[in-house]
Amino acid sequence: MDKHAIVYHEGIAEYDFGEEYSLRGDRFPRYIHLLESEGVLDRLGIELIVPEPADNDDLCLVHTLDYIKKVDEVAEAHGYLSDDTPINPSIVKAVRLIVGAALTAGDAVARKGYTIAQGVGGGLHHAGRDYGEAWCVFNDVAICARAMTERHSLKRVMIFDTDAHAGNGTMDIFYSDPRVLYLTVHQDPMTLYPNTGFPEQIGEGDGRGYTINVPLPRRADDACMAMVIERVFKPIVQQFKPQVIIRNGGADPHYQDELAELGLSYGGLWSIGRAVAKAAEEANCGFVDLLCGGYSQGREEKGLYALFSGEYGLPQTQKEDVPPPSHDPSVLPRTDEVINQLSNLLADYWEIEKIG
Ligand SMILES: [Zn+2]
Repeated sequence: MDKHAIVYHEGIAEYDFGEEYSLRGDRFPRYIHLLESEGVLDRLGIELIVPEPADNDDLCLVHTLDYIKKVDEVAEAHGYLSDDTPINPSIVKAVRLIVGAALTAGDAVARKGYTIAQGVGGGLHHAGRDYGEAWCVFNDVAICARAMTERHSLKRVMIFDTDAHAGNGTMDIFYSDPRVLYLTVHQDPMTLYPNTGFPEQIGEGDGRGYTINVPLPRRADDACMAMVIERVFKPIVQQFKPQVIIRNGGADPHYQDELAELGLSYGGLWSIGRAVAKAAEEANCGFVDLLCGGYSQGREEKGLYALFSGEYGLPQTQKEDVPPPSHDPSVLPRTDEVINQLSNLLADYWEIEKIG
């Protein structure tokens, strides 16, 4: 029988940047309460695992010791890691639990035969080797992927990043590493932080061809995501043959998000979860899911739940609070253009179907 886990520590509610910021820690317990009230954990036989905090050896899989020390010093002084990221000791304690959850979820899949393991609170993809920003102190996604190659000796790890923001930290960390293929779908970085993550950025050295950026136009909706899944994600999985897929990203592609301007519905988020679970099944590999983001004033858990239900093949039951915006006829042709551009740029490495 398939084994499934959700890795969660209630201490991650302390991963909270305060009232002035959109990343608040109460979303995590709300998500777990929603899972519990729907009764899905028992019904699907999903184990709830409590992780240990990551130690310095774990963090050093990706980050420099100097950076880890700097984080502690800045936190102690209640200072700013970057303009937008105030930190304190409880945030650092919480982020170590988030990284611990990602590592535990990774371990469950790589060593213990779990088919799906979710690390709640993860997806801190804006942190690089020696920097942190945009509420990302340590990069749990990258640490989880590095543990796959360094501790579990995997040779083909795929990260599929579906957060609305490009994962600049994750991209930097693996830019020259061919063992970790980084495929990221995000809002056009010309129009959104972190202002990097363009199709031309395809990796360097041995890693050339192993970074794939798919920027979507503003207001890109479910149909655009479906096009990317069909024409980029699925063919890359078939050709790369990952030994594990790590997906990250929360609810911020949803049309009600306050920070991003994509136009996905809960159904669109559901279809991401469904596509990854199916692809992992076909590739006969495990699937680690790291989820956190989304900025919609107390509705974040609905998007996270839509992703979850897609992963487990449950019906999509989340109701929209307001009707979706009307379809912008320009978004599909523009997505098609980006995919055709990627097909050319990556022609030496992958076959991505060019249409039109
Ligand atoms: Zn985001």
